[in-house]
Amino acid sequence: MESTEMESREELIVYESSMRIPYRWAAGTIAARFYRELAQQQLWGTRCPRSQKVLFPPRKNCNCCLQETTDWVTVGPQATVTSFTVARYNVALLNEPTTYALLRLDGADTAFIHRLKEVDPTQLHIGMRVTAVFAVEPQGNILDIDYFRPV
Ligand SMILES: [Zn+2]
Repeated sequence: MESTEMESREELIVYESSMRIPYRWAAGTIAARFYRELAQQQLWGTRCPRSQKVLFPPRKNCNCCLQETTDWVTVGPQATVTSFTVARYNVALLNEPTTYALLRLDGADTAFIHRLKEVDPTQLHIGMRVTAVFAVEPQGNILDIDYFRPV
């Protein structure tokens, strides 16, 4: 019997494990300013000088024409729901369904994903108007917007 034939008859042993990998990363100039402003409950995007698109979260380069963005503009805090989903997976663990939405902040041309609360999932609809609820203790990340709720 060849060794490869023997190996194929052997049952694989599968171990379950997990690992924690702490890491650090440099936010860069655009994200650093974005998070500093966000901690002050200020929402800023960047504007493309060529296409005039306002990007939120701000980006160094336009996602449409790749032009470097040059201007900072305030956006929100109100937004429009452009899409959504209600996650009911493992409801027992989460206590309640979690709603995620693709939101376009007022003044922005791009959308981003964040969670909705204080909303009845049966009342959710595209075009729904919502507003940002900021975290009580900002941490310098996107969760400084705790969630969005209906206006
Ligand atoms: Zn552009």
